[in-house]
Amino acid sequence: MTTAATSILRGGEWLLQESDADTVFTPERLTDEHRLIGRTAQEFVDNEVLPVLDKLEQKDWDLARKLVQRGGSLGLLGVDVPEAYGGVGLDKVTSLVVSEKLARSASFGAAFGAQANLTIVPLMLFGTEAQKQKYLPKLMSGELIGAYGLSETGSGSDALGARTKATKQADGSYLLNGEKMWITNGGFADLFVIFAKVDGELFTAFLVERGFGVKSGKEEHKMGLHGSSTTALIFQDVKVPAENVLGEVGKGHKVAFNVLNFARFKLGAMCGGGAEGAIAEAAKYAATRRQFNTAIASFGAIKHKIGEMVVKTYATESLLYRTAGLVDARVEATPHEPTDGSAALNAFEEYAVEASIAKVFGSEALNYVLDENIQIHGGNGFVKDYPAERHYRDARVNRIFEGTNEINRLLIPGMLARRAVKGDLPLIPAAKALQDELLSPPAAPATDDGVLAEERRAIAAFKKVALMVLGLAMQRFGAKLTDEQEVLMHAADILMDVFAAESAVLRAEAATTNKAAKAPLHVDAARVFVNDAALRIDASARQALAATVDGDTLRTMLAALRRLIKVTPVNTVIMRRRLADETVARGAYPFA
Ligand SMILES: Cc1cc2nc3c(=O)[nH]c(=O)nc-3n(C[C@H](O)[C@H](O)[C@H](O)COP(=O)(O)OP(=O)(O)OC[C@H]3O[C@@H](n4cnc5c(N)ncnc54)[C@H](O)[C@@H]3O)c2cc1C
Repeated sequence: MTTAATSILRGGEWLLQESDADTVFTPERLTDEHRLIGRTAQEFVDNEVLPVLDKLEQKDWDLARKLVQRGGSLGLLGVDVPEAYGGVGLDKVTSLVVSEKLARSASFGAAFGAQANLTIVPLMLFGTEAQKQKYLPKLMSGELIGAYGLSETGSGSDALGARTKATKQADGSYLLNGEKMWITNGGFADLFVIFAKVDGELFTAFLVERGFGVKSGKEEHKMGLHGSSTTALIFQDVKVPAENVLGEVGKGHKVAFNVLNFARFKLGAMCGGGAEGAIAEAAKYAATRRQFNTAIASFGAIKHKIGEMVVKTYATESLLYRTAGLVDARVEATPHEPTDGSAALNAFEEYAVEASIAKVFGSEALNYVLDENIQIHGGNGFVKDYPAERHYRDARVNRIFEGTNEINRLLIPGMLARRAVKGDLPLIPAAKALQDELLSPPAAPATDDGVLAEERRAIAAFKKVALMVLGLAMQRFGAKLTDEQEVLMHAADILMDVFAAESAVLRAEAATTNKAAKAPLHVDAARVFVNDAALRIDASARQALAATVDGDTLRTMLAALRRLIKVTPVNTVIMRRRLADETVARGAYPFA
């Protein structure tokens, strides 16, 4: 509790100011304690989960239960829970490390996540003392299996449109009636966080024990995640005592949205971990598979793929660890009792934009990696003898759950615009100042001959483009901006690239300053990312601007865009080759 909260970058502030590489958390700054728990999680998955994955895929839920219990006995379920409740009360960087390692078995990762992130976290953040004492220890040991019931047939993205009803009884209890859909752990969970409307109106969260009368529907036949239970939940006059309301009646949206902020960030971490694992598979396969008397790893086309897999994963990890560092710094700077979850709650609300970016960017990076992993495996990628096809199927849902990527894309610029209008983020004055700057003659660029100076300059320009697009859209559409989803999607893509590019460059700068062994490879990864981000940002900005303004204003803005995005291409071929060669030589993601 040493740093003042005001000195820590606030959510979205990276768009308006530069950051110093010294202040940014990176994977290279993990402590021995972080690495130790990471090793514990990895060994658990490698030695105890992966060998029994086939049984899990055959829906052996007793085995799933035992594995959750084993994870509990290793302390992995209690990383977010204070010691007073039997947890290990570690920082959010640790949560990220554990999520990354569990991703190596996506099905089990989903079961584990429903327990740790979607049941334990809401109870920790919103539960009464009595609720915590009653349920937390049993959830952390795995004696109770948890699940989270928000979605319904008619309300997925529109979660607050739930039709499940909670009717208040004379004795203060509630009768639940309705049906939830696609609930992870639905087939065998014992305790459910369920959202229902009290008297059909007040959206409220409840802690519902299976013994109260919850029935599960049949297992869904899914594209992937076959080793994770997904069912409907049926409530017919299920009586829930008054003391099992979670949070306040009518405030269920607070539980739902805050849990999602946290879960999105962790999903991003799972995606980063999944990508690392797939890169190792691709590298090992490419080193041994020979065609034309040559290992396919030596073909430029394959090097390009492996290099790009590494670049996207590097950017994903960089933005994730940066966000985790911000959340931890903010929690630490907020005076609070160790048992008080409100500091973490506020921190996750503060970094909700970054959590959405982690989810969308991470899930799309993983999709790219897994698709190319199949391609590198050729025909073997398409058959079940190799895990590449399973990873691909398992990962597809990451773009759908925890808020679809469309909903999260809308949230990214939407939340920034709302904060700007409220005066919480000085985006509007910054956009106005930028308009004046763009109408004046260009200033001479600052001289900087650091190793990533060009990239730094490019990122400053990317931020201006983001401000130009978002500021102009806010000015042009005002309160109706929410109706302009295509413009918002382009703005989201630009914002994600800005945050990812800056996070990657800051990490590479830190590696260079600290003379890390692989510093030159860090620089390669960051430079390739920035190079390609410039092309994407230019394309998105042109489309967004043309949908926002026309005539002379459009021409002026396009001229300003050309002036800003003057990025000289770098030789990405050489850089991706170096990254790919190192990956193949190690048989693993080079920055692990
Ligand atoms: C394997 C699996 C596990 C799951 N686990 C859980 C769980 O444990 N608990 C739980 O509560 N739920 C769970 N879900 C449900 C999941 O959260 C929802 O599927 C998800 O939120 C999307 O809702 P939907 O399927 O109704 O899609 P819809 O909301 O119908 O969306 C369909 C399409 O329309 C788009 N769309 C919707 N609204 C808008 C809008 N306003 N603007 C623009 N585009 C829009 C979406 O992006 C999407 O592309 C799970 C789902 C799966 C597949």
